Amino acid sequence: MKRQVLIILRGSMKKALVRNNIDCELLEEIISANPDGMFAVDCDYRILYWSKTMEQLFGMNRNYVLQKNIFEIVPLFKNTEEENCYIQAFSGQTIISSNKLSISLKADNKFYFKNYYSPLQAKDGKVIGGIVLVRDLSKKLEAEKRIQESEDRFRVMSDCAPVAIWMSRKDGLCDYFNQGWLEFSGRTLEEEFGLGWADRIHDEDYKKVMDTYFNAFNSRNSFIMKYRLQRHDGQFRWLLDQGKLRFTQDGEFLGYIGSCIDITDQIVALNELDDTVKKLEAALKARDDFISIASHELKTPLTPLKTYLYIIKTQIVGLSHSSSETLFNIIERMDSQINHILKIIDNLLDFSHISNQLLELTIEKVDLVHVVCEVVKRYKILNPYLSFKLFFSNKESEGQWDKMRIEQIIDNIVNNAIKYGEGNPIEIHLLEEKTQVKLIIRDKGIGIPKNVQTPIFDKFERAVSSENFPGLGLGLYIVKKNLSLHGGTITVDSGTAKGSTFTVVLPKDINCSPHCTIFES
Ligand code: ADP
Repeated sequence: MKRQVLIILRGSMKKALVRNNIDCELLEEIISANPDGMFAVDCDYRILYWSKTMEQLFGMNRNYVLQKNIFEIVPLFKNTEEENCYIQAFSGQTIISSNKLSISLKADNKFYFKNYYSPLQAKDGKVIGGIVLVRDLSKKLEAEKRIQESEDRFRVMSDCAPVAIWMSRKDGLCDYFNQGWLEFSGRTLEEEFGLGWADRIHDEDYKKVMDTYFNAFNSRNSFIMKYRLQRHDGQFRWLLDQGKLRFTQDGEFLGYIGSCIDITDQIVALNELDDTVKKLEAALKARDDFISIASHELKTPLTPLKTYLYIIKTQIVGLSHSSSETLFNIIERMDSQINHILKIIDNLLDFSHISNQLLELTIEKVDLVHVVCEVVKRYKILNPYLSFKLFFSNKESEGQWDKMRIEQIIDNIVNNAIKYGEGNPIEIHLLEEKTQVKLIIRDKGIGIPKNVQTPIFDKFERAVSSENFPGLGLGLYIVKKNLSLHGGTITVDSGTAKGSTFTVVLPKDINCSPHCTIFES
């Protein structure tokens, strides 16, 4: 073996090895460490040397191949360009086989390689054969094949995608546009190449697009931009373009890949929606302004009207008993009607204030027992036949609230209990707890179907027909708003046959500045 190894060494190299005490076994180790296989033949093609890597590559061991003809060992080399290479090596030339040869040594083991040929010279420089270095290309070719397959897959996917896709190189110039893009633009890849695609950006968007693109490029950031690009039919379409960075597996920057979707329809729809919202807002403002003005105008004549009624009441004292009683009753009813109109107007005014975010509180010490009694008393004066059952856990229930608003809350709920209570007695419970007061108002009237119990606290929501029960559907909405301003809540428990129970929970101290503004939720 030593002889065979030595024979393929050039004289000077051999001397150097000997000088440095590097023996043939070590040399054999060095050659074996090389992933390239190596063998040597004499001019009769007899194999003189066969490296360990060759044993692995060809699956034939050295003892078997030595002294055998190379074309007997690898018949595929015969009559090919490889045979010529040997001849050239024997004539003293160094040559690389230009083909990637494929050899199927076992059924399932096909490998590709490339050979490097050089002459094998004796001490005197005479060519006595050839040395062949065999480079296994299988893994490289396999990797290239996989890359090619993956690229083909990407192109097929990209061409089938319902979006326009582009890719740029490191220098920012685009070198790929998918089918979707080319169909959109109606141009060729060559026309779009580089910055050709940018020719058709809308003039108004051009600078912004270029700035975004190159700023992102220079800072190596992803980007999203919206711009108008001319379509094949000349129409400018809005595109949403998202660019993402591309890197190799080693982290080397390759450029960008981007996708564009046509968002023109969405933009048009959004603009229309915007217009509609603006119109609606204007209409709502006009309505609120109208309610506000109309409420004030309606209220103005009612105040003197009430005064005149009071004066008439005092003047009829001198009349006969029966006629004064009749007149008195009529006046009482007129007064009650005026009060009713005043309540409606107050509700409308409050609604308008809530809508315009103008509801304010004036906080003071308030006794809820007193307020409940006052409200009940007023209704009893108007209709002595009304029946109330009052239950107070304490003699007084004090808290920091806006008296007028608290009165309005209780009044609205009691008013509903009377209106929808079918004349049955109304229970009012006032339970004082540590930090809050609970007010329960229960009637035995028509009740509220379950599915409309939540909506009745919204504006204009009603669970009854206006023919049977006139009303605006604003009372509970205002109650809820007033309560939330006090940090309180209202809930209802009802069913059609059992009447309704409204529960108000009111914190004793609303923990709010004396003047706070309510905002529409
Ligand atoms: P309005 O009474 O003017 O319609 P509200 O906001 O006070 O407006 O009440 C909203 C709706 O809730 C009423 O239309 C009615 O259907 C229902 N409702 C309120 N209170 C009661 C109650 N005590 N019993 C039955 N239904 C009620």
